[in-house]
Amino acid sequence: PAAAPAPAPAPATPLCTHQTVYVPVNRLAKVQEARLRLPILAEEQQVMETINENPIVIVAGATGSGKTTQLPQFLYEAGYAQHKMIGVTEPRRVAAIAMSKRVAHEMNLSEREVSYLIRFEGNVSPATRIKFMTDGVLMKEIESDFLLNKYSVIILDEAHERSIYTDILVGLLSRIVPLRHKRGSPLKLIVMSATLRVSDFTENTRLFKQPPPLINVECRQYPVTIHFQKRTPEDYVAEAYRKALKIHNQLPEGGILIFVTGQQEVNLLVRKLRRCFPYRPQQEQQQNEQQEQLEDVAEENFDMKRVIRNIRKSKKKFLAQMELPKINLDDYKLPGDDTEADMHEQAEEDHSDDDALSAGEELEGVSELSSGPKQPLWVLPLYSLLSSEKQNRIFQPVPEDCRLCVVSTNVAETSLTIPHIKYVVDSGRQKTRLYDKLTGVSAFVVTYTSKASAEQRAGRAGRISAGHCYRLYSSAVYEHQFMEFGLPDIQQKPVDDLMLQMRSMGIDRVVHFPFPTPPDQLQLQAAEQRLTVLGALKATPGDAKDLPPAMTPLGRVISRFPVAPRFGKMLALSHQQGLLPYTVCLVAALSVQEVLQETGVQRTEDVAPKANKFHEKRQRWAASGNFQLLGDPMVLLRAVGAAEYAGSRGQLPEFCATNGLRHKAISEVRKLRVQLTNEINLNVSGAQLSVDPQLKPPSDAQARFLRQILLAGMGDRVARKVPLSEITDKEERRRLKYAYNTPDMVDPAFLHASSVLKQKTPEWIIYQEAYELRNGDSEKMFLRGITAIEPEWLLLYVPLLCNMREVRDDPPPRYEASSGKLFCFVEATFGKAGWPLPLSEM
Ligand code: ADP
Ligand code: MG
Repeated sequence: PAAAPAPAPAPATPLCTHQTVYVPVNRLAKVQEARLRLPILAEEQQVMETINENPIVIVAGATGSGKTTQLPQFLYEAGYAQHKMIGVTEPRRVAAIAMSKRVAHEMNLSEREVSYLIRFEGNVSPATRIKFMTDGVLMKEIESDFLLNKYSVIILDEAHERSIYTDILVGLLSRIVPLRHKRGSPLKLIVMSATLRVSDFTENTRLFKQPPPLINVECRQYPVTIHFQKRTPEDYVAEAYRKALKIHNQLPEGGILIFVTGQQEVNLLVRKLRRCFPYRPQQEQQQNEQQEQLEDVAEENFDMKRVIRNIRKSKKKFLAQMELPKINLDDYKLPGDDTEADMHEQAEEDHSDDDALSAGEELEGVSELSSGPKQPLWVLPLYSLLSSEKQNRIFQPVPEDCRLCVVSTNVAETSLTIPHIKYVVDSGRQKTRLYDKLTGVSAFVVTYTSKASAEQRAGRAGRISAGHCYRLYSSAVYEHQFMEFGLPDIQQKPVDDLMLQMRSMGIDRVVHFPFPTPPDQLQLQAAEQRLTVLGALKATPGDAKDLPPAMTPLGRVISRFPVAPRFGKMLALSHQQGLLPYTVCLVAALSVQEVLQETGVQRTEDVAPKANKFHEKRQRWAASGNFQLLGDPMVLLRAVGAAEYAGSRGQLPEFCATNGLRHKAISEVRKLRVQLTNEINLNVSGAQLSVDPQLKPPSDAQARFLRQILLAGMGDRVARKVPLSEITDKEERRRLKYAYNTPDMVDPAFLHASSVLKQKTPEWIIYQEAYELRNGDSEKMFLRGITAIEPEWLLLYVPLLCNMREVRDDPPPRYEASSGKLFCFVEATFGKAGWPLPLSEM
């Protein structure tokens, strides 16, 4: 609408002053009573005055003080939702859903009015006034409506988590707010954070020329006594179990909250604890348990020793690259470390020593049920992938005579506040996905959290009264091996997605973007290079060297798909030959971790294929028909197809168990397929994909095209067999039998034993993953997820990898490979490859 109202006559106060209109809310008496106990209620007036008079405000306050649930309500009551919406972003889906439901309930409004939107799901309606969403969702909205005209306020919640999207949103909004101001329809920005590292936002002049006002919400926090372990046990899950038993058996009432690193650990602990203190009357709990057990059946055996071994193996390389302090998992003992180190001052009303477990207590020899099971323990799991009904149980009343015990991942650290917690058991660990900056090779590792996280976790115990936090590590480990803060995501993850998205929004010079903390230059360059190889960006030829590579039409198509750019490209090319259903299936299967169950040994060591009893079967799946060369992805396609068939006959669990598939992974793949199919039908004109999950195996020709499509997405993961004929030394030839050269790695990498193409050793391949294994002192790179390709295809799909003798038009710059060993010597001319690319019949 061009007819913007004429700006009001020059006001005395800045233009952004909001005229408060009181909009009444009918809350239930019980809700109102609970609200009044929240610290932020006492500061409503100050908070709202600051917001009314300033375009950008930072609100910091302890977790649980009421920021997320109350601030949107203050704004609503002050009339901010009258003509436009109040938008709230959360880095976690869990929080977006839970908080929208909670606020709707508190305000006595329907979920049509207080709604949420996450990537594939939501209940937003035309009546929506307050909208909770993930930060990624708002980022997508900015692409189509840069000024965010639907909103009067944007709240960026949990900014301290430093998720990539929240960081970018802070930067974007720092520019959008003045623009909206100029247009006479001001937008307010509220950055909300726990009391952590706020200075990255307030003292950042690149971001905000004038530091925005900071409101600190005072919060009554009861003292929490910290207990360190004398030693740092490796098996922190077992240790957490023992601690929980002792707390329950020996200490006065009050809920227990245990922090471990992942879903598997959570489920394992929950089962063990429920077995120990069963809660009989509730059948539901047992049913749940059975269900969870079923879900876990096909998962690898939980083996802490193995996990630790893996950390040991991968940690050195990754941690060195990530510049994290090195982890010493060996027991850690310093002279004088045996005494309890209290970080917080002991309060007068606090427990005496015999009340709490003292840290120096000997754990060995404690009989687990020494005092016999008394009170039942009401044990609840909490992690992001848990269904929202089950998550909600943490807020429901605990059955009478029971003690609450929540076993959680770091979801409960700041995003969700669980009531009634008095004891926290902190493993001090978290699961992180670490990436190699240059190659993008990633691995999940368990690392120590930061001191800041440890403080947050401890703080969860002091909400109702003085509490206790049992840290399952020594104070020496805490002092010397915990970082002060976690690194912002943007400094540790590949930024390919982000770069493409920013470019498609017209931000050409990503380097100059006002990031709260700028990403590493190397990382930006590596992302730019990968996107160039992918064909989403195109370097400008000739002398305009300082211009960043331009976005290509293909790049624009790719950025529309809600998946990683390499998968976006695969989907973009699959519109031909009826390939889309197969690519959707592959993209889904490749996005889910470990669909195929590996035996523990297999994943970590390069042992003979026989060690995996499923290997034979996989070999047969890949070989049937005439499409062996599709290799390991073919196994995935067949596995998913066959599992769907088995599922349609109600035999899925048995099928998974006998064929080495992870049951849960298979259902995740299925969900992803449905979601992707819907997205494509919505976004790609003319696409009418069926959501029917049953998929016939591809024809020979289709399998051949799929190899090309995989190559198109994996152009940066091409490898060529080491030319054995040029090696004279016999010993050396044997050593290099399965060796491949890649453009980025100096030393050759080896086909992993689990690949169905191991015996074929095709000349040219693409791989899904390269990873390093250590064996004693030696280390070896392995390649997994192998597909054979024809070198001619490289010309079409990855021209930057090719040396061309004669080049017409603008020569693409040579891909700057560090080892220059791999080049396709196609002596041909390179025509301008338009898009869509036809698949090659070669
Ligand atoms: P903050 O954002 O400052 O961390 P919140 O607004 O998330 O604080 O939480 C305020 C209070 O609301 C907490 O005490 C929390 O336990 C409570 N709360 C949040 N969600 C629910 C719910 N679904 N049921 C009951 N209480 C809830
Ligand atoms: Mg919050």
